[in-house]
Amino acid sequence: MVKETKFYDILGVGPNATDAELKTAYKKGALKHHPDKNAHNPDAAEKFKDLSKAYEALSDPQKRQLYDQYGEEGLEQGGAGGGMAAEDLFAQFFGGGGGAFGGMFGGGMREQGPKKARTIHHVHKVSLEDIYRGKVSKLALQKSVICPSCEGRGGKEGAVKTCTGCNGAGMKTMMRQMGPMIQRFQTVCPDCQGEGEIIRDKDRCKRCNGKKTVIERKVLHVHVDKGVKNGHKIDFRGEGDQMPGVLAGDVQFEIEQKPHPRFQRKDDDLFYHAEIDLLTALAGGKVYIEHLDDRWLEVDIIPGEVISPGEVKMIRGQGMPSMRHHDFGNLYIQFDVKFPPKAFNSQQKLEMLEAILPPRTPQALPPPNAMIDDYPIEEVDPSGQRRAQGATGMDEEEEDGIPQGAERMQCASQ
Ligand SMILES: [Zn+2]
Ligand SMILES: [Zn+2]
Repeated sequence: MVKETKFYDILGVGPNATDAELKTAYKKGALKHHPDKNAHNPDAAEKFKDLSKAYEALSDPQKRQLYDQYGEEGLEQGGAGGGMAAEDLFAQFFGGGGGAFGGMFGGGMREQGPKKARTIHHVHKVSLEDIYRGKVSKLALQKSVICPSCEGRGGKEGAVKTCTGCNGAGMKTMMRQMGPMIQRFQTVCPDCQGEGEIIRDKDRCKRCNGKKTVIERKVLHVHVDKGVKNGHKIDFRGEGDQMPGVLAGDVQFEIEQKPHPRFQRKDDDLFYHAEIDLLTALAGGKVYIEHLDDRWLEVDIIPGEVISPGEVKMIRGQGMPSMRHHDFGNLYIQFDVKFPPKAFNSQQKLEMLEAILPPRTPQALPPPNAMIDDYPIEEVDPSGQRRAQGATGMDEEEEDGIPQGAERMQCASQ
């Protein structure tokens, strides 16, 4: 009472075969004709596919009914065509059935949620001046976009076919008989080289050469907000690579503050080193500081205020703008006091200092009957001292070449 017997014939059973009989017949046939075991027999691969197709139809009660009534044609019209690939069916049988597919494909095939292209990361180096004033940087990047000629198909409409060898997965699970065991292993589908689909050369898109994407240059406007912090990240959602069938990737810029020759920054505060001479420290004077926005700050040192070496003063509100509020941090100035050179004046003139400077601090005096030896003090010869420690003259030069401020800057920078 069946329209045709082709599928039953392939499996070698009669039209009245039970489910169990179909199953046994398929197993026997599939093992015998598996392509891995028939490398030199191309007919086996065909036979293997036919077996799978036949079994897949007949093992499903609805499809079997359709086939019995209308034959193979009816099955295809009924939308039941294009089922599982032969390998998948086989794997389901011999390699731990339904649900195990994720594992078979390395766990990557059935991930939760839609897939997304990778994020493009870029470090954007910005000067302290630019952070002080804020700016918009125009940054160009190369990214993949869906080919506009073929709209991401890779070829003419209808020319791209899902690979039947791997059912579009790009990977195949292969079988190898090792004595009584059947070993399963994954390999890139040889029919489509892992693409999951096949395009005939003449239908291949000329613009993208079937790759579906082309490289495009895109300019992004990155807003460097006033007072932005080092390490701050700015995201451009969906501005990254495009690929067919996945969400476009993101682009992320990370702000990196370049070191500054004059200022160090800590949060919203700025730190500055000012070198003044002894006269200015004692008798007052002016210090000029070039700020980050072309302004110069004039700092008055009041006569008699006395700035000690290393002393720190602060100018309120002259630090960095804070990012969220509209106020500013402070500017801290550390003073280095430069003493006059040796023998800068005559003995006589120096005596005048006694009239001006506070009197000598009394030293601890020895008791009246103590033994007192008189000792001269000597200059310390830095090269002599280093040579004694095994250092070379080169080190000496290098060390002397570092300006005082630079060394501090390294210490204070984050
Ligand atoms: Zn194209
Ligand atoms: Zn394939």
